[in-house]
Amino acid sequence: RIASEREGRFRPAVSADGRRVEIGVNIGAAAESEAAADSGADGIGLYRTEFLFMHAERLPDEEEQYAAYSEVVRRMDGRPVIIRTLDIGGDKALPYLNLPKEANPFLGYRAIRIGLDREDWLRSQLRAIIRASAHGEVKVMFPMISGLGEWRRAKALFEEELASLRKEGQSIADRIETGIMVEIPSAALLADTFAREVDFFSIGTNDLVQYTLAVDRMNEKVAPLYDYFHPAVLQLIQRVIEASHTHGKWTGMCGGMAADPIAAPLLLGYGLDEWSMDIGSIPKVKQALSRLDSGECREWAARLTALDTPEAVRSELVHLSERS
Ligand code: PEP
Ligand code: MG
Repeated sequence: RIASEREGRFRPAVSADGRRVEIGVNIGAAAESEAAADSGADGIGLYRTEFLFMHAERLPDEEEQYAAYSEVVRRMDGRPVIIRTLDIGGDKALPYLNLPKEANPFLGYRAIRIGLDREDWLRSQLRAIIRASAHGEVKVMFPMISGLGEWRRAKALFEEELASLRKEGQSIADRIETGIMVEIPSAALLADTFAREVDFFSIGTNDLVQYTLAVDRMNEKVAPLYDYFHPAVLQLIQRVIEASHTHGKWTGMCGGMAADPIAAPLLLGYGLDEWSMDIGSIPKVKQALSRLDSGECREWAARLTALDTPEAVRSELVHLSERS
């Protein structure tokens, strides 16, 4: 059983008709990179850096961050590592910052909003990430982007720190891709504009579902309404992937939907380029992909996206998965 598990994990992610997609791992700490490197993944699709901050007693400085990020990048040995800048706020608190309590924390002072307000924090994080690129392939991702202005300001800070590190003579990769999480409906609706400027998108379904459907992702009372197969969510996902391809860019997904093998026909049909998930989900998603024909999935995806309820979409997908 152990041997076959390893085989399942290390097979490349290819559909039955030969379409190769990328599989990433989501990690929350540098220590997880050892398991990530041995997971059969093509890279790290989401490194949630906030846990480094949450497990400290004060803000980690540039050197401490550099040590953590470069450990991960080295461990992945040339495979890409997408490092997401601090996504604090919402359900993730930093007690030592003493941020005021908010009535609506998920709609409040969080993630890139804090980064752009406290530029000094974001700048030192960006410097640490850029320096880690000396050890492998690094990509930078900004969370909770709601409009072009935030992205442009964040990107400008990145460019400034990149230029200043080069001037200091630090060794840095020639190229570092920069992209955004698409987890707010406004960003998904503006995907065509964003796609002209970013290198990539990563769809965060955990938040995208919460914000599109106005369903608190933490509230069990409304959990039955929380469904990534809602046709409104599917239309946004489809739109984002299409927009990226129109402009020669790529789209990944690092929210929980990417780990669901039932969703694989839809996502393959939309043309998703990269799936990122917890380590444990990799074998079952690879297996689901290996049974699918991408042309057939394109037709299914078009048909299922036009259905009118999440229940209808889900029952068709369950039916498909039983068939294949
Ligand atoms: C998401 O929102 O889907 C996501 C991957 O980010 P997080 O779960 O860290 O908010
Ligand atoms: Mg999120």
